[in-house]
Amino acid sequence: MIKVCKFGGTSMADGINMRRVADIVNGDPQRRYIVVSAPGKRFGGDAKITDLLYETHRELLATGMLGAAYEKVCARFCRIVDELHLSLDIGALLKETAAEIVREHSEDFTASRGEYLAGKIMAELLGVPFIDAKDVIRFDGGQFDLASYGLVREALKDKKRAVIAGFYGADANGRVRTFSRGGSDVSGAIVARAAGAGVYENWTDVSGFLACDPHIVPSPAGIGELSYKELRELSYMGANVLHSESIFPVREADIPIHILNTFRPQDAGTMILPTAKYLARAKKLRTVTGIAGKKNFTVIYIEKSLMNAEIGFTYKIMEVLLRHNISFEHLPSGIDTMSLVIDSEQLAGGILEEVEEDIGRAVKPDRMTVSSDIALIAVVGHGMTRSVGTSARLFSAIANAGVNVRMIDQGSSELNIIVGVDNCNYERTVRAVYEEFFKEQ
Ligand code: ASP
Repeated sequence: MIKVCKFGGTSMADGINMRRVADIVNGDPQRRYIVVSAPGKRFGGDAKITDLLYETHRELLATGMLGAAYEKVCARFCRIVDELHLSLDIGALLKETAAEIVREHSEDFTASRGEYLAGKIMAELLGVPFIDAKDVIRFDGGQFDLASYGLVREALKDKKRAVIAGFYGADANGRVRTFSRGGSDVSGAIVARAAGAGVYENWTDVSGFLACDPHIVPSPAGIGELSYKELRELSYMGANVLHSESIFPVREADIPIHILNTFRPQDAGTMILPTAKYLARAKKLRTVTGIAGKKNFTVIYIEKSLMNAEIGFTYKIMEVLLRHNISFEHLPSGIDTMSLVIDSEQLAGGILEEVEEDIGRAVKPDRMTVSSDIALIAVVGHGMTRSVGTSARLFSAIANAGVNVRMIDQGSSELNIIVGVDNCNYERTVRAVYEEFFKEQ
């Protein structure tokens, strides 16, 4: 079986950690293709290389030259190569990279150099070939191009092992483009799919997913297994272990993702399985697998008699959103009512008022009210559909905590129940739900 391993920023933060990575990789001959992030923070308050590179680009725009930020980048990489006692001529590589950054004059190119340099170093440390992602990961019109799978496969064909830089690729003109922040997870998933991997190991600095945010509940239970669908719900709602788009390439090919901790490789981590496989294996599902949530949503509540019979009612509202380039998160509706749940950031700076006016004109509602400062909490688990009384337990736990529920949406996936509460009640609600579903498990 082929394992594709992606190592995140903390795992790559310095020479000592990179050596840990090399030990992990060398400890299992199945770990053949390694995707790396740029060095992240070594300690609280430290800078991530990628952030320094974005600053490098800003300095370049402002002064026409590379400045203090790039010096910091150089110092970090020189130190890493020193710590690893590698013979790689990092000075020459950094000089060449500086010239390319000035020549390319592109934010994406500059930001991508962290992964590029880290990949070169890791390849040298492991004694395996380096694959530049710009030659194999393609973007077409800003979107990931499926042709990349064939290119990656071709590049891996004659290589027993290799290191591939994460986070970036190139467009049809060969210009470097990056994924969004945290995108090396996506690169890892693409390589796993292209390589026909049996598992995509995602090595990070935590031992997998926790049942809820540890800043809210101290030491919550870990999640041993999770389905892709549950992962999608939890990571979309703020459980930030994996980039939310990294699921798609591997899910289509039924490749499990194993989240593991570089600093505690002995821990079991979290295994994310194709949903059918997960459901077949999980004999006794937990009622709730995990709880995640986010603050700062706005709910626009619209009421109109006989809304149900008015053809095109929702269409007209969607047209308003489209005109303002706004996406909505949820759309719970009743016979004569509908709520639009929107990330408040999209409505800032007077947009909310414009949207309200436009909706008023478009559908002439009987009543329209707006609640801002709403937090959404997703309670996720396949087991919820199979156990009787889940909602009763959920809502009594919330009521017993003295919290007023402002909105409910049971996703049509029947995998989650979304509860809206005032921002100020967010933490209290998460604690109450956790207590209810996890205290005895
Ligand atoms: N280095 C990039 C970032 O900090 C990508 C990644 O680490 O996945 O966002």
